[in-house]
Amino acid sequence: MNDTELQHLRRCVELAAEALELGNHPFGSVLVAADGTVLAEDYNRVASGDQTRHPEFALARWAATNMTPEERATATVFTSGEHCPMCSAAHGWVGLGRIVYASSSEQLATWLAELGVPPLPVRPLPIQEVIPDVVVEGPVAELAVQVHNLHRRFYRSSPTE
Ligand SMILES: [Zn+2]
Repeated sequence: MNDTELQHLRRCVELAAEALELGNHPFGSVLVAADGTVLAEDYNRVASGDQTRHPEFALARWAATNMTPEERATATVFTSGEHCPMCSAAHGWVGLGRIVYASSSEQLATWLAELGVPPLPVRPLPIQEVIPDVVVEGPVAELAVQVHNLHRRFYRSSPTE
């Protein structure tokens, strides 16, 4: 992974922090074209009450609307946390390319267990169990630490605790 790609991942972590400020789960994602152009970015919006408002799902839909199949296949999705099975499926259905994540679903599951959060309603499967042909890179230790801190902040400030 080169410096430019690391910058995209850092932006994902910034977006995750923005999501957190607005009461959402701390996740953020960036969609980058084959030539390096940032096409779209989004963050988690589940505070709306819709638990499917994940940034990776939003970017898959954006790609389906705005990109040709060839452009999608050569694009990369950067994301602060590995895609959940719903978002992996959306990524696969619209034919997007590589995925680079800062922290893995396995890490998230461990962190949530440590924080005493009940298991999620959807199993945290690795991306490649859902879409085995997609090239996946991650986690990135330096950024995973930052993502871990955001999750700690989310659950520590949660009124359910
Ligand atoms: Zn998701």
